[in-house]
Amino acid sequence: MRDMTTLDVCIRGSGAVGLSLALALARQGLQVGLVGAAPWQAVADGPCCGRADVRAYALNASSRALLTELKVWDALPADAVTPVDDMQVEGDAAGGRIDFSAWRQGSEALAWIVDAAALDAALRTAVRFAPHVSWLAEADAKAAVLSVLAEGKASASRQALGVRFERHDYGHIALAARLVADTPHLNMARQWFRSPDVLALLPLDRPEPGCSYALVWSLPADRAAALQQAPAADFEAALAEATGAAAGMLRLVDDPVDGPADAQPGARTAWPLALAQADRLCGPGWVLVGDAAHLVHPLAGQGLNLGLADVAALARVVAAREAWRSLGDETLLRRYVRERSAPTQAMALLTDGLLHLFAHPQPVVRELRNRGLTLLNHLAPVKRFLTRRALDA
Ligand SMILES: Cc1cc2nc3c(=O)[nH]c(=O)nc-3n(C[C@H](O)[C@H](O)[C@H](O)COP(=O)(O)OP(=O)(O)OC[C@H]3O[C@@H](n4cnc5c(N)ncnc54)[C@H](O)[C@@H]3O)c2cc1C
Repeated sequence: MRDMTTLDVCIRGSGAVGLSLALALARQGLQVGLVGAAPWQAVADGPCCGRADVRAYALNASSRALLTELKVWDALPADAVTPVDDMQVEGDAAGGRIDFSAWRQGSEALAWIVDAAALDAALRTAVRFAPHVSWLAEADAKAAVLSVLAEGKASASRQALGVRFERHDYGHIALAARLVADTPHLNMARQWFRSPDVLALLPLDRPEPGCSYALVWSLPADRAAALQQAPAADFEAALAEATGAAAGMLRLVDDPVDGPADAQPGARTAWPLALAQADRLCGPGWVLVGDAAHLVHPLAGQGLNLGLADVAALARVVAAREAWRSLGDETLLRRYVRERSAPTQAMALLTDGLLHLFAHPQPVVRELRNRGLTLLNHLAPVKRFLTRRALDA
C-alpha cells in the first residue's frame, strides 16, 4: 500500500493524455498516482454502448517522438500504425483541391494513423510496468502536491474548481466507423469539405492490411442520427455518393482485433462536436491538460496532438524547476500555461475558421474558397510551411 505522504502528482483521468503524462513524470522519479480506470479494468469503452473505440488518430511527428521516448510507440502492433505518404483535400466545387506529399515536403510521413484502442492498450501496459505509478482510490487523491486534471471535455473536477469551460456547440456530430475498400489505400489520406459536412478517410492497415480506413464524417446532428441508424447498405451508398467512389467501394466493418465479441457488424459511433477553452489553466496545486483544457473540431486531427504537446511541455517545465520550488507552485505552472497558450489558440482558430469558411452558403464565398484551395496547391513554400506546422503542432 502506498504511503500517501510521498505522492508528488495525482493525475485524474486515464485517457491517452493522462496515461502519457503519468509515464513522462514517473521517468523523472516522481511518485505519481492515477485516478481512473486501472489496467486490469481496461475495457474497450467507446463513446457509447460499451463498444470498442473504432477511431484512429492522425498523430504528428512531435506526438510520435513523445510516445517513442515513453517506450509506447515501438510497443504498438505493426498493423496498428500506418504512415500517411500523401493527402488529398477536396473542396465543394469541381477543381477545388489541394494535395500534400511527404516526399515533396522532404518529410518521413505527413502523419501516422494510429488505432485508438491499440494506443490505449499500449499505454496501459506501459503504465502497469512503470515504477513510481500507482492507481489511487478517489479518497487518496487529495494527498498529492500537484493535481493534474486530464478528465477530458466533461471534467467534473474542473467544474468543482470553478473554472469556466467556454463552449460553442457546432450542432454537428462526428460519425466514426471502420471501413474496408476494394482498392488499396496506398497510404493516402483523403478529406472532403462538402459544406456543411466534412468527411475524412484515414488509411489504416487494420483490420485489412493495405485497404482499410478509419472514417470520421462530421454532419449536422439530424443527418448524422439518420446515417448512424441507417442499414449498412444505405450508409455505404451515402459514402459512395459523398466520396464519388474516389477511394473505391467502401464497406463497413468492425475491427476484429480489439472489438468485443458481440459487436454489431458495421456499427458507427457518434461524437458531438464543440469548440471549447477553459478560462484558467492552472492555480495553486492544480493544472489542466488535454481535452479538459481545450477542445477542437476533429477536422484537422489535432486534439490528441495538442494534448500530447501539453504533456511534453508540462514534463519539461517540471523537470526544469528550481530545486526549492514546489510542484504545486502556481508560478511554475504558469510557465507551462505560457508555453501552451499560443499554439492551442492558433489551432482553435484554424479549425473553427476552416469550418466556417466551408459552411458559408454564399456562392461567391464558395467560389473564392475553392479557388483559394487550388491557388494554395500551386504555392509549394506555403504548403511546406503548413505541413511543418501540422507536423509539429
Ligand atoms: C471523432 C474524433 C476523431 C478524432 N481524431 C483525432 C485525430 O485524428 N488526431 C488527434 O490528435 N485527435 C483526434 N481527436 C481528438 C482526441 O480524441 C482527443 O483530443 C483526445 O482523446 C483527448 O484525450 P484526453 O486524454 O485529454 O481526454 P479523454 O480521451 O476524454 O480521456 C479522459 C479520461 O478521463 C476519465 N475521467 C473523466 N472524469 C473523471 C474523473 N472524475 N475521475 C477519473 N477519471 C475521469 C474519462 O473516463 C476518460 O477515460 C478526435 C476526436 C474525435 C471525437
